[in-house]
Amino acid sequence: RALSRFAPLPPLTALSAPTLSWNEAAPHSDAFGDVYFSREDGRAETEHVFLNANRLPERFTAWPTGRPFVVGETGFGTGLNMLCAWTCFEAHAAPGARLHLVSTEKFPLPREALARALGAWPSLSREATRLLALWPEAVSGIHRLQLTDRVTLDLHFGDTTERLGALDGQVDAWFLDGFAPSKNPQMWSPELFAAMAARSRPGATFATFTCAGIVKRGLKAAGFAWRKVPGFGRKREMLAGEILIPPEDDRRAATPWFTPPPARTAKRALVIGAGIAGASVAQALARRGIEVEVIERDAPGAGGSGNRQGALYVKLAAETNDQSRVYLAGLLYSQRWLNDLAPEKGLWSPCGVHQRALDAKEQRRQQRFIEHHPLPTAVVAPGNGELHYPQAGWVRPKALCDHLLDTPGIRLIHGTAVALDRANDGWRVMLEGGRVHEADHVIIASAHLANGFAQTQTLPLQPVRGQISEVGLPSGVKGPDAVICAGGYVAPALEGVLTFGASFIPNVTDLAVSQNEHQGNIEELKQMLPELVAELDAKEALAQLGGRVAIRAASPDKTPYAGPVPDAEAWKKAYAVLSKDATRIPTQAGAHHAGLWITAAHGSRGLASAPLCAEVIASRLCDEPMPLEGALIDHLHPGRRLISALKRAQ
Ligand code: SAM
Repeated sequence: RALSRFAPLPPLTALSAPTLSWNEAAPHSDAFGDVYFSREDGRAETEHVFLNANRLPERFTAWPTGRPFVVGETGFGTGLNMLCAWTCFEAHAAPGARLHLVSTEKFPLPREALARALGAWPSLSREATRLLALWPEAVSGIHRLQLTDRVTLDLHFGDTTERLGALDGQVDAWFLDGFAPSKNPQMWSPELFAAMAARSRPGATFATFTCAGIVKRGLKAAGFAWRKVPGFGRKREMLAGEILIPPEDDRRAATPWFTPPPARTAKRALVIGAGIAGASVAQALARRGIEVEVIERDAPGAGGSGNRQGALYVKLAAETNDQSRVYLAGLLYSQRWLNDLAPEKGLWSPCGVHQRALDAKEQRRQQRFIEHHPLPTAVVAPGNGELHYPQAGWVRPKALCDHLLDTPGIRLIHGTAVALDRANDGWRVMLEGGRVHEADHVIIASAHLANGFAQTQTLPLQPVRGQISEVGLPSGVKGPDAVICAGGYVAPALEGVLTFGASFIPNVTDLAVSQNEHQGNIEELKQMLPELVAELDAKEALAQLGGRVAIRAASPDKTPYAGPVPDAEAWKKAYAVLSKDATRIPTQAGAHHAGLWITAAHGSRGLASAPLCAEVIASRLCDEPMPLEGALIDHLHPGRRLISALKRAQ
């Protein structure tokens, strides 16, 4: 019998907007022939049906600090239910408690329609404004919105049942919404109820406005106990209930090594490395109330994250694969995250990125990409011999690291971590010179040095030398208005200086600036912007270039590592059978170095990958729903190469 696994993810695509009719501010779906909410008393109805029937006021009041309370919803619609859950949480929860909202939506409202609908509720205007500011483009996949420091909303865009099948997380209370079963029978399927049950915490509750027979039967078959309770207003009855013992989640039966390590105490964490990877994971943990120490041997952003400017860009495969899914999700997440970080500090410029196709082969590749990815043009649009990412841009990486490390709860320590040891149910980190620090969790974020510890030494990581060049623009010479990239990249001038590059030299860690590599960078620039190079040449500006070398780290498959560190020796023993017969899958979960994590191998695209990988680690560490589909979480797993090596040995 075939072992269960995550279902293949559907293609990356733009989702269609619903066709709406309006009764003042209240939208009505033409396709489903049903309303989103009642115009008179929609808010009171939400409170009665979804909040009170799930006993949220009492449960929020009693909710402790630690992992967040998780609400799951089918059909986000206008967000009324979720905004009400948020305000209810603010009214009742203790300081330090957290809320995580997960909601699916197959036909996301365009921002203007959402604004119009939420305009019906002046008492929710603060929450609505925040939601609208973060509202994502209609791209299938998960969009994480940080509503406040303690309230997170994950929008799972796509079909509800399919999205719950991919959800890596568990729910405490369900809002079973969606248009009425008679108008939307396709959604209220046995598969939906089974997916809800399998993603439930023991004792998870649900509430729904309907009493339809198909709902009662479906819930019961999936293991939920239901009872009829008084409905809202003229509706006599509705359903509420719970599931005491949810079915086991068997989606990693075919890949048991990726089973996440059990949750453990998370009061103090120590991060090794203060580049973008380390600083973003430190910020993600500190926001969750964890005390964080960051150990850095040089200064924040001294390594690969220390250039004056870095491009936020991705290069997506022509045909969708898991790596592209991760990078597109990362790009969209980074854009939203950067827009939300201290805009007054000018940490980044969303000036757009043009990915030029400089030869016929790349043009064909881009053409294929567009055919395979019907994405909104606000995300990526075909141009004349290029792809245009209108909301991407460039970042000041060093300033960004400094800003992130300034988050309350983070302490920066100057030092070099040389060894790690288990201690008191956590970790002891030995620094050069004999100092010792202790923490419940350690996150290694030291780029190409990340496999320098006994616990990580088998992790394949390749150093890649990269040199950027800098030229002061002579008066009258103008640089590009947006980031241009092809082999390398060039950013708009910052304070009169144009940054371009970078060289790409695997397995070299020397830091001396090389004239040869300057020359290579000029050649690349000439391909992208020949007139600019001619002008600079004419003014003899290219004779004196500034430069900086940094060492990036790459994995053999060019996907970052983000997740728990496997116990390589234990894996080799437990999964040795794979080297004889890759179809014989042992049942035991992979042993991990409990409390040890890594975020590394971000290559030259760390601005697109590291912030989302920080959320991946912080979410798992805090036992929260994950910001990526389960299959993509596994794609990032630091143990994946151990398994492929065993299988290759077959
Ligand atoms: N909870 C919403 C609110 O607070 O505004 C109201 C939900 S509205 C009645 C139903 C929503 O379910 C619509 O936004 C619709 O697009 C969505 N929907 C319907 N079928 C779906 C499906 N199969 N997968 C995902 N979403 C679906």
